[in-house]
Amino acid sequence: MASKKQVVETIALACSECKRRNYTTTKNRKTMQEKLELMKYCKWDRKHTLHKETKVK
Ligand SMILES: [Zn+2]
Repeated sequence: MASKKQVVETIALACSECKRRNYTTTKNRKTMQEKLELMKYCKWDRKHTLHKETKVK
């Protein structure tokens, strides 16, 4: 039985204004259960916007 639990998950951070995925990062599901929301620089909007966690792939 292969039951290797993946604790660290790769996620993408998508701009809430233009919806582009500008960043990828990892998060530990054990310590971070809520959705990530970060102020990040969007090169398409050329300003800092709110980036929200989305699934990779
Ligand atoms: Zn943007």
